[in-house]
Amino acid sequence: VEVRDWTGRFAAEAVGVVRPRSVAEVAQALASGYAVTTRGGNTGLVGGAVPATSRPTLMLDTTLLTGMGPVDDRSGQVTVGAGVPLAQVQAHAEAAGWTYGIDLAARDSATIGGTVATNAGGIRVVRYGMTRAQVVGVQAVLADGSVVDEARGLLKDNTGYSLSGLLCGSEGTLGVITAVRLALHRPPRAPSLGVVPVPSLDAALDVVAAVRRTGAELLAAEVVDAASLALLGESVRGWRLFIEVADGGAAEGLGALPDDAEVGLDAAARRRLWAVREGMTELWGRAAAQAGTVVQKYDVSVPMVGLDPFVAHMRGLLGDRVGVFGHVADGNLHLEVVDPDREWDEEVLTLVARAGGSVSAEHGIGVAKRPWLGLTRSAAEIAAMRAIKAALDPRGILNPGVLLDP
Ligand SMILES: Cc1cc2nc3c(=O)[nH]c(=O)nc-3n(C[C@H](O)[C@H](O)[C@H](O)COP(=O)(O)OP(=O)(O)OC[C@H]3O[C@@H](n4cnc5c(N)ncnc54)[C@H](O)[C@@H]3O)c2cc1C
Repeated sequence: VEVRDWTGRFAAEAVGVVRPRSVAEVAQALASGYAVTTRGGNTGLVGGAVPATSRPTLMLDTTLLTGMGPVDDRSGQVTVGAGVPLAQVQAHAEAAGWTYGIDLAARDSATIGGTVATNAGGIRVVRYGMTRAQVVGVQAVLADGSVVDEARGLLKDNTGYSLSGLLCGSEGTLGVITAVRLALHRPPRAPSLGVVPVPSLDAALDVVAAVRRTGAELLAAEVVDAASLALLGESVRGWRLFIEVADGGAAEGLGALPDDAEVGLDAAARRRLWAVREGMTELWGRAAAQAGTVVQKYDVSVPMVGLDPFVAHMRGLLGDRVGVFGHVADGNLHLEVVDPDREWDEEVLTLVARAGGSVSAEHGIGVAKRPWLGLTRSAAEIAAMRAIKAALDPRGILNPGVLLDP
């Protein structure tokens, strides 16, 4: 069967697809003698869920691992099967009077297993942290078929290495995640959203700081640049900042915003305003398709003080081939490059490294960024990663060629 990723950039042949319904069936797949590529919702953006070597590879599709336990109202925890889509977990938590700390535009398809395996970020990181911060414990099947189960609900358990911590962000290379115990939060007060034009990222960060000084609970701070807004037919200068606070929906937390801010208080107005930011990944994908190519995606983080100079360098390098949007309060920018003529990985990611940043802020390494891992992780760090991989997967059957060279 042919397997293709969401971006259309990566495709490969797999010998077949298995859809286990239980931990035992996952272990059976790992004993098949084939290499195994694990796939959840297939919304990953770095090609990590597509076979990456010429070895005969089985696709292990987790989407039937859909068990979902009750929300425990005393601990604020819930156990969820790896294949449950993020949006279903959000709805399940909300129905029980809680909220889940992770939100991203791919919520209807991205699975909990996939978000844990990639340590996904999204628009709520500024408030609740990355996925790793939501994980109480992970249940997983290791390469030899053994099962590790830290999804027992123990918030405190300092008995040696945290295997769950290791599996977060492991991109399917250390084990197949089968279930996750998640920590939930009490829902914030009703949110207000402000959309503000700003001339620079520094100015955006100043607005964020002013809003935070009021004591308002910051839920999100996102930016979109003029090149991205032009895809919607809008002609603007500078950037647009989307800032959301939990203030009871009265906009009192947004008092620090400049006069030209547009404010959305009710759910419909907020959805309409957020749609612009949330549509960006797909919009750039379409722009690239129209140019007869696929978008070159760079999900990078840069120290906050260096954001504007970094963007200026990028625009100097790429001109109108680049659009930028992202999670400004995390120092995380998504650069979308449309160029049918050549790839820009080396130049872009070298500039990221020079700026003291990371070549992957939240999407992971997959195969797309594998050649560049050494730009922002040291030789000692990569050697430690290799030692862990060799110890847990000596036959190299789990996602070979993803994250580390096969
Ligand atoms: C429109 C759009 C918006 C997005 N926005 C964001 C964003 O804001 N922030 C962000 O961080 N990401 C974002 N993403 C990327 C993507 O949604 C995340 O990386 C997500 O976590 C992937 O989940 P998935 O279930 O689709 O995983 P897949 O794409 O199926 O797999 C991703 C990786 O995880 C591994 N994997 C999947 N399931 C398991 C498992 N059960 N056990 C072990 N390994 C597993 C795969 O082998 C692969 O390496 C976006 C994607 C799209 C399309």
